[in-house]
Formats: sequence, structure tokens, C-alpha cells
Amino acid sequence: MKIDIITIFPNFFNEFLTTSKIKHAIEDGRVTIQIHDLRDYTDLKGGKIDDTPYGGGAGMLMIFPPFYKLLQQLRTEDTYTIFLSPQGTVFNQQIATHFRDTKKHLILICGHYEGIDERVLNFVDEEISIGDYVLTGGEIPAMVITDAIVRLLPGVINEASYIDDSHQQGLLKYPQYTKPETFEGYAVPEVLRSGHHENIRKWRLYMSLKKTYMKRPDLIAKKNLNKEETKLLNEIKKEIESK
Ligand code: SAM
Repeated sequence: MKIDIITIFPNFFNEFLTTSKIKHAIEDGRVTIQIHDLRDYTDLKGGKIDDTPYGGGAGMLMIFPPFYKLLQQLRTEDTYTIFLSPQGTVFNQQIATHFRDTKKHLILICGHYEGIDERVLNFVDEEISIGDYVLTGGEIPAMVITDAIVRLLPGVINEASYIDDSHQQGLLKYPQYTKPETFEGYAVPEVLRSGHHENIRKWRLYMSLKKTYMKRPDLIAKKNLNKEETKLLNEIKKEIESK
């Protein structure tokens, strides 16, 4: 996969691109990420890329021409252009998986200040938000989206590591423990130490359903539960009611 990021703060991405899984994914050729400094594409003096809004109002807007110039160079029939925006579709694991499966080349546009000249949207396929709040710029959202997609690319992490992650299949992940087995009287649940794979699988599914039911009932309502999950959920409800 290829990801082009358009920003006026390229240094923002230095640590991101040179740390942990993203660094390894780039080194292993699983993804190519290129950062483009929008200021290199403006004709205004001193790399100026913003101006006051028509009609008045507070703040500055990012101007249209440098976006137009750069997008003319980057867009091809394979590209999918995303503007990071608090007005967009709210990003989630399903969208990350969908982009992983269907897009070869993403262009991520980071706004700043009051936002961008609306004419840029003529060259945008989709607006994506990372939540219902407003940040100073699109750089953190671009990192969020890039990270969520890149970790799903083949070979970046084991499929077994993300397949039962929270949200991957509509549930929250079961509780996990590591060594030591007991500490200050706090013990790891017996079943996880039993070595009985089927019991461990059932316990994890039960706990995953229970966590989701208690913390995010909205996810349970959306999920198409299979027979086993429905049966376990009924047991969970009874367990909770009996307390
Ligand atoms: N005035 C704009 C509005 O009310 O919709 C908000 C501008 S915001 C201060 C500056 C830039 O940060 C936006 O253009 C966008 O690129 C980015 N941004 C802010 N919040 C975001 C969010 N929740 N998701 C994605 N991008 C966001």
C-alpha cells in the first residue's frame, strides 16, 4: 500500500515514521509513506498557504491553489483521497479494514487553522473524522488512520494478534494476563493456566461478550450473534441479574 500525506507540518511525522511497527512496515516494503509539505506548492511569498475567509469571520483558511497543484501530481486512477475533517464519517475498525482491503493508494489531506477552502473538496473522495471533537490540525488524525490501517497489512503483525482485538469482530477483547502467576495475592484465573484449549476459548468468548455487554451494549445490539454467543450472553445476563 502507498500513503501520501499532505501537511504544512512535515516534522510532525518524524517520530511516527521511525518508530515501532510503522518503521518496520516501511523498512519491509509493506507500505510506502510519503509526506508532502504543502508550502512547497504555493506561489505566495515565504511559503504562505493561508488567507482570510471571504465574507469575514475569525481565523485563516488554507488556500486552494497549492492543494490543486499537488493533487494534480498525486492523483491517479488508483488513488483514494481523504480529507481529515471533524465533519467526516467517524473512523472505526471496520473502515480501517475496508481501506486495507480495497485501497492501494491513499492520499490524506491534513487541514489546519480554520480549515481549508471548500473548493479542495472537489478533489476529495471522502471526508473522515476521528471523533466528534475539534483538533488544531489533521496531522494526528492522519497518523491515527495510517496506524490503524498499516497494522492490518499482511506481515506487519500476526493475523492472530489482531483478529480478536477489540472492534475487529464487533466485540471488546477478553481480559489478558502475563507472568507472574500470582502477585501480592492477585492470581491469574485458573482456566488460563489449565492448558485446556477448548475451556480457554469458551472462557475468552464469555469474557469478551461480558465486557462488551457491560461497557459497550451498543456494540452487542449491532452484532449478529451466533448460537453459541447468544447462549453465553443469556448466561451473562442471568449472572448479572442474580447479583
Ligand atoms: N473550522 C473547522 C470546522 O468547524 O469544521 C475545524 C477546523 S480544525 C481547527 C483544523 C483542521 O484539523 C481541520 O481542517 C481538519 O483537517 C483537522 N481536524 C480537526 N478535528 C478533526 C477531527 N475530529 N477529525 C479529523 N480531522 C480533524
